[in-house]
Amino acid sequence: MKYPAIQNFINGQFVNSIGSRILEVISPLDGTLLATVPMSTSKDLDNAVKAAQAAFPGWSKTPIKERVQVFFRYKYLLEKHLKELAELCSEENGKTYGESVAEIEKSIELTEFATSLPQLVTGEVLEVSRGVECRTEHVALGVVASIVPFNFPSMVPNWTLPNAIALGNCMIMKPSEKVPLSCGKLAELLKEAGLPDGVFNIVHGDVEIVEAICDHPAIEAVSFVGSTKVAKIVYQRATSHYKRCLALGGAKNHLMVLPDAKPEMTAQNVAASMSGCAGQRCMAASAMIGVGNVDHIIAKICDEARKIVPGKNLGAVINKQSQERIERYITEAEQQGAKILVDGRNTKVAGKENGTYVGPTVIDFVTPDMAVAKEEIFGPVISIMRTDTVDEALAIENANPYGNAASVFTQNGGMARYIIERASAGMIGVNVGVPVPREPFSFGGWNESKFGVGDITGKSSIEFWTKLKKSTTKWNPEAGVNWMS
Ligand code: NAD
Repeated sequence: MKYPAIQNFINGQFVNSIGSRILEVISPLDGTLLATVPMSTSKDLDNAVKAAQAAFPGWSKTPIKERVQVFFRYKYLLEKHLKELAELCSEENGKTYGESVAEIEKSIELTEFATSLPQLVTGEVLEVSRGVECRTEHVALGVVASIVPFNFPSMVPNWTLPNAIALGNCMIMKPSEKVPLSCGKLAELLKEAGLPDGVFNIVHGDVEIVEAICDHPAIEAVSFVGSTKVAKIVYQRATSHYKRCLALGGAKNHLMVLPDAKPEMTAQNVAASMSGCAGQRCMAASAMIGVGNVDHIIAKICDEARKIVPGKNLGAVINKQSQERIERYITEAEQQGAKILVDGRNTKVAGKENGTYVGPTVIDFVTPDMAVAKEEIFGPVISIMRTDTVDEALAIENANPYGNAASVFTQNGGMARYIIERASAGMIGVNVGVPVPREPFSFGGWNESKFGVGDITGKSSIEFWTKLKKSTTKWNPEAGVNWMS
């Protein structure tokens, strides 16, 4: 085993879980056993919550300008440890080193945003009548939890932890049991940055600990990022205990390609979007709709896809089950009459025979009823459908239950605007294959890609991580003047 057994992080210390169940953490790159991860119990959670509760009065009363100093230092430490963090991320997740570097760079940008929060949470004050003042303040919630998926071991934890903590909350993080190593490193850096013990805690585990988080009476808010199936479970369970919950789910993102699109640029964007992070991104292009004759662009997409080499500029998918699931989707589409233009099945990388790779795959002549057109594949696969009109393309996009992202490739501004207005997704790209909004803009989809109000990052997250206190004060000495006068 390459690393020591993973521990929880409670009250500023790495500690063993009380539970006896463990899972192995296997590198998707080559099958190396990296570590074991404990499946924590509700008793572990109680300990973490107690530590967070004890830290909350001191941390929430620390002025925000002082709190964000920790995040200036944390940002510097993320930069200093970028290489180490990126290597760890690649090892446990399977993505390429370059993709891991991009993930840490995005974590740095998220942290920069958190350092700007004092400028954004100033509240409001107004003399509403003579001598009477109304004032609002954003107040921290208390102990909050963040449950995260496997596909971004560093970035998704950093969607929530810098903002929630800078706003005065104390946090329990539940990493994915498939990629638990990166989060421990983040905890070390937060401690080194001067974050007081108990403000950030990690409990590892699976279903049992997620259920315990949803049920725990002292946890005020739960954020979740993962599949739609589990987002629904977590949202229902957490809100049934009257907690705030924001649960981001899966995706099926459509790229609409019009005949006037710039061929090179479009092909590069489509290929990069469908294959980046081995297609394991909730923002990945998964379905493409060619409107009219776009054969020349599809030919270029295939050329671009063939340049993508597994084990070199394409990482592994998370595990054997994922590899098999993705290959099953491709085979089923082929059996139903779709044409596999570039085939990523049965991919082996020399010297990494135990790695779990799927090559880039381009499937043409997909029809909207096929599973590859409707379901989240979460692999480096693009399913191409054809329509005659933009409205037919929009009808396909609108009919899919998800709503994370959609993009259009065209040189016609009016057509782009038409599609922006009609696509049913929270994040829209024009000539952009992965339309992730950058800070201070917020990240969040629509429909079955998100349950709850507001977005998880950027300015929108302030409302989720705080409650508003409204105070009305009257200091005028005259008698007979009431608060309405
Ligand atoms: P997942 O839903 O399997 O797991 C997410 C988290 O939930 C993990 O921490 C896991 O331990 C826990 N979990 C798993 N099954 C559970 C259950 N039955 N009950 C309670 N908890 C459970 O997701 P994943 O496979 O880790 O991640 C991939 C999914 O995440 C994809 O669907 C992807 O689209 C989605 N995702 C969405 C976004 C977004 O912003 N919308 C971002 C990243 C990933």
